[in-house]
Amino acid sequence: MFDGEDFSYWKSRTKTYLLSQGRVIWEIVEQEYVVPQDLNTASAGELVTYENNFKAVNILLSALGRSEYDRVAHLDTAQAMGGDAVMAAELVGPRVYSCCHCRNHVCLHDDIISKAFQGRNGRAFLFSHAMNITVGTKEDRHLMTGLHTVADIYCRDCREILGWKYERAYEESQRYKEGKFIFEKAKIVKENW
Ligand SMILES: [Zn+2]
Repeated sequence: MFDGEDFSYWKSRTKTYLLSQGRVIWEIVEQEYVVPQDLNTASAGELVTYENNFKAVNILLSALGRSEYDRVAHLDTAQAMGGDAVMAAELVGPRVYSCCHCRNHVCLHDDIISKAFQGRNGRAFLFSHAMNITVGTKEDRHLMTGLHTVADIYCRDCREILGWKYERAYEESQRYKEGKFIFEKAKIVKENW
């Protein structure tokens, strides 16, 4: 089931399944295929290809998670669908954010927990994970949501300050932030997406 993650695994499983249904079913995914305008005048061969196309479409749709299904369900040929699923996967592949200063990769779009945070300089995002960063010294800070122990986070390459890590939250309702990272929106840039 493809839901935007682990595309190479999905692709290999799906290809194997399509092949197991017959070589023509797989071939139709690889070919340009145009659904005939008028099936009444289609030849016997065209009708077989037409049916095979829909077998392949059915397999591809069954192998997609809901979010990916919605992106391709309007397509009526297996080739278009195979192509679009590939494109969709590349688009939703790992979407990386980089340090605004040196382009070091620091966090992934998929790890965003919330986009509704306030940083020092405007909007900020809460992430479940960070990478290639250095965590600074812990300190207690009174934030809008109460007392927290936080530590600034720096780009490991250029030392730019990017946000902070929540080490501890003292109010029960804020506990979900513990161990998570704030990146200031102004300090990160989308890397090729
Ligand atoms: Zn940097």
